[in-house]
Amino acid sequence: MHKGNLIIISGPSGAGKGTLVERLVARVPDVWVSVSATTRAPRPGEVDGEDYVFLSADEFERRVQAGEFLEWASVHGNRYGTLRSTVEEKIAEGRQVILEIDPQGAAQVKALMPDAVLIFILAPSMEELERRIRGRGAETDEQVAVRLATAVRELELVGTYDYVVENDDVLRATDELAEILGSLGG
Ligand code: ADP
Ligand code: 5GP
Repeated sequence: MHKGNLIIISGPSGAGKGTLVERLVARVPDVWVSVSATTRAPRPGEVDGEDYVFLSADEFERRVQAGEFLEWASVHGNRYGTLRSTVEEKIAEGRQVILEIDPQGAAQVKALMPDAVLIFILAPSMEELERRIRGRGAETDEQVAVRLATAVRELELVGTYDYVVENDDVLRATDELAEILGSLGG
């Protein structure tokens, strides 16, 4: 059996990572998306174990100490991490494994797994990014400001990525992502 690819998708909050990954899963066979753990509170409609594994700060720390994370980082004041076990299993099964993680986590994974492919998702402008975050309606004004400040810092790291995809139109950007995945060897 061929070994699967590890694909990391980063980009500012609100750029449309979740939207594009959902489209990709519906279109590209063999894609498997890792479910991260987080200490942030669930948004309305988010399901534990599907969107994230929601953990208390103590439980997250226990798992850090137990070495259960492939990577973890603090983002917007909460901790987020990729649980190691399923990711390694799915790569060995030959799946196209997608991690939707921030640039700090991406750098950690790239150092451990140099074959990982890094893709950065951009919104067309900061104004549009803010519109999308506000349109999602999940964050307070203060949280929106934190996310926009993080976005500015993250954008400085775009040059460390293998591919940059502008999410102007969902269908067009999904096509571009599908093409990138299709071009990767197994
Ligand atoms: P992220 O996962 O990067 O934080 P989301 O996928 O949650 O972003 O998208 C943020 C908001 O922007 C959502 O309300 C989503 O429906 C919307 N959105 C995503 N892509 C586009 C697009 N190409 N054009 C307009 N709105 C979009
Ligand atoms: P959100 O709170 O909007 O779901 O996610 C906020 C940020 O956390 C995004 O930049 C997302 O990529 C990042 N993130 C989500 N899961 C992980 C993870 O497992 N590890 C790391 N390092 N970042 C993550």
